Amino acid sequence: AAGDLDAAELFTAYREAAAAEDLNAYTWVADQTPDLSAAAALPLRGVPLAVKDLFCTQGVPSQAGSKILEGYRPPYDATVVAQLAAAGTSLLGKTNQDEFAMGSSNENSAYGPVKNPWDHTRVPGGSSGGSAAAVAAGLAPWALGTDTGGSIRQPAALCGIVGLKPTYGSVSRYGMIAFASSLDQAGPFARDVTDAALLYSHMHGRDPRDATSVGRPDADAIALPTGERLDGLRLGVPDDLTGEGVEPGVWTAFEAALETAKGLGATVERVALPHAGYGLNAYYVIAPAEASSNLARFDGVRYGARAEADDLITMYTKTRHDYMGTEVKRRILIGTYALSSGFYDAYYASAQKVRTLIARDFTTAFAGVDLIVTPTSPGVAFPLGAKTEDPLSMYLNDIFTIPISLAGIPALSLPCGLSEGLPVGLQLAGPAFSENRILEAAYALE
Ligand code: GLN
Repeated sequence: AAGDLDAAELFTAYREAAAAEDLNAYTWVADQTPDLSAAAALPLRGVPLAVKDLFCTQGVPSQAGSKILEGYRPPYDATVVAQLAAAGTSLLGKTNQDEFAMGSSNENSAYGPVKNPWDHTRVPGGSSGGSAAAVAAGLAPWALGTDTGGSIRQPAALCGIVGLKPTYGSVSRYGMIAFASSLDQAGPFARDVTDAALLYSHMHGRDPRDATSVGRPDADAIALPTGERLDGLRLGVPDDLTGEGVEPGVWTAFEAALETAKGLGATVERVALPHAGYGLNAYYVIAPAEASSNLARFDGVRYGARAEADDLITMYTKTRHDYMGTEVKRRILIGTYALSSGFYDAYYASAQKVRTLIARDFTTAFAGVDLIVTPTSPGVAFPLGAKTEDPLSMYLNDIFTIPISLAGIPALSLPCGLSEGLPVGLQLAGPAFSENRILEAAYALE
């Protein structure tokens, strides 16, 4: 229509805003507007896309928040980046993140913390904090993140936007710099449910270059949600969720969302997840164990930074000492210990058994309800620096997101009001491949 921006004008407006931003949300911004005339005919019509820095982007810095990858420009695109480019999106920028996606506040980035656009003294959540902050601040129409234990859902909640962690295996991990391979999954951030659905509808699919990708059984069947009501939808609230340990304002917003759901025709009942309380414990063995193995490749030889030294072993040691951050080293130490001979059965094998029990809890629960609902995070965005000295209190941010990651099932975070003037997120989780049902419910509640 007359007065609409064309794709190039839109891209230029976002590019200029992103280059001038003061949140530290971007670590790289496109310095020119590409020729988007051909993209106008594609389904995503040249819409600019912000991409978390751990996705490989051809010829563009991909540093995963780490000094050890400073200046690394991959020779290829991650599969999802290529899929979205084929659908018409154009790379607007790379977004700041916790180093190797380890964190819940974006304070573990070697490129500095990201500020929450609602209050610049507070964290945006993490690890995909740059992507969430960019979308919330209008510095990108939508963005890609990754979620290993909550890193899409928690920053979406803390920044007041929509974030979807898809079913594990529905999206390719090829070209994502790995943290914990059995948990990592890419997903969209958007300002509303429809945009999140649209972006995800172009991301899923089996990829021969990722042996754990399966695509979707109902290939290409992600439908844009349309329903206004929730008649007959059975929602489950975990029965040990009593509001204890949850900030009162978050709990009030959560209960109000349940009332809204009932008003739209849903029923709400209690469901048992007897092993979910062990999720954090299992996760903090499994994720560091896989990370310690994945991060062995950063040795100063193959990628990124290299420390000067006279012999090879000193070079390895010094490179990893000088260019990896504290949290990354902590995870490598925990993971290496958990995998070491004599401790493997006590830690890693036990954690895998707990993981199976948690996955079974969800299967049992979904025999009685369609979706499980919780607050996404027990609190609103906290002040920068408030939890950096206490890793355990930081890890508690993910108490509601981690069991879902261990089970491999999909979940979405949707804004559900404010507490102390800051956004609260509602988490909706469903059985594997139930993204359509989750998106429909979220759309009706939005
Ligand atoms: N906060 C969790 C961690 O630090 C989850 C991070 C993520 O999902 N990438 O491991």
